[in-house]
Amino acid sequence: MAAHDGRYAPSPSGPLHLGNLRTALLAWLFARSAGARFLVRIEDLDRGRSRREHEARQLADLAAIGLDWDGEVVRQSERAELYDAAIARLDTYPCYCTRAEIREASQAPHGALPRYPGTCRELTAAQRAEREAAGRRPALRLRVAPGPAVAFTARLLGPQRGPVDDLVVRRNDGTAAYNLAVVVDDADQGVGEVVRGADLVDATPSQLHLHDLLGLPRPTYAHVPLVLGPDGSRLAKRHGSVTLADRAAAGETPERVRARLLASVGLPGDLEEALRIFDPGSLPCEPTMLTPEDLR
Ligand code: GLU
Repeated sequence: MAAHDGRYAPSPSGPLHLGNLRTALLAWLFARSAGARFLVRIEDLDRGRSRREHEARQLADLAAIGLDWDGEVVRQSERAELYDAAIARLDTYPCYCTRAEIREASQAPHGALPRYPGTCRELTAAQRAEREAAGRRPALRLRVAPGPAVAFTARLLGPQRGPVDDLVVRRNDGTAAYNLAVVVDDADQGVGEVVRGADLVDATPSQLHLHDLLGLPRPTYAHVPLVLGPDGSRLAKRHGSVTLADRAAAGETPERVRARLLASVGLPGDLEEALRIFDPGSLPCEPTMLTPEDLR
C-alpha cells in the first residue's frame, strides 16, 4: 500500500451524475498529483439494482472526462471468497430483524438511521429455530463491544468521531454488506487514501473499526464536498440534465462538463493544468449548489 494510492468505487445502479463525476475527478487528482495509483472498483453487490450496462456506461463516462486508471477494473460480485474469509474471522451473530422492526424497537424518527437495539444479540437456540421455522433468513451482525466512539481526521472535514454499532456484515440474501466489502477491498487493493463524498462520512467509523478488527492497515480519508441540486438536496435525476448523456443532448461536450466541474472547485478546466497545480488544501469544504440554468 502506498500512502496516496486511491480509487473511485461507483455502484452501477444508474448513470453517473455531475456530483459523482466531480468526486471521481477529485479522487483521480488526489492520487495522480501524488504520483500514486488510481483504481476503479465496481460496487455491484446489490444484485437487484446493479446492471452491466450501467457499469459500461459509467466506465465510458469516466474515460470521456479524461480519467484513466491502473490495472483491471475489479467487481465486488466476483470477490465473495475474500469477503467470506473476512467474515469468518469476526465475532458475529445472526439477526432476523427487518428494517421496520429495528425502527420500531429503537423508536427512531422516520428516516433517521437508528442504532441497532440489540434484539437478536442474545437469542437462544430455540428462539433462532423459531425464527428460521417462520421462514426468516438471517443477516449476520458484528458483535461490537461497548467502547468509545471512533475518532479520525478526514481531510477537508477535519476531526470527526462517530459511534460504532452492531453493523451488518452479511445481508440476509447472503451477500457481503457494503461496509465489510469496502474495507476488505481497500486493504486488498492497497488503497492508502480513500477519497469519496462527504455523504459517506458516517460510514467511516464503522469501516475503521472493521480495519482494526481484521488487522488491516487503516487508510486515510478525504471526504469531498457534494454537488447539490437547486433545492439544496443531494443532486439527483429529478433535478434536470445531470448525466453526461443529458449534457450532450443539451449541447455540452464532456470537456466542457469537466471544465465546469473543475471550475466549481477553483481549478482550471484543462486536466493537465489542473493536475499540475492541484492542492488538496485549497479545495472548498462547502458543497456546490447548482442553479436551474446549470441543469437545463
Ligand atoms: N459505492 C459507493 C457509492 O457509490 C461508494 C463507496 C465508497 O467510496 O466507499 O456511493
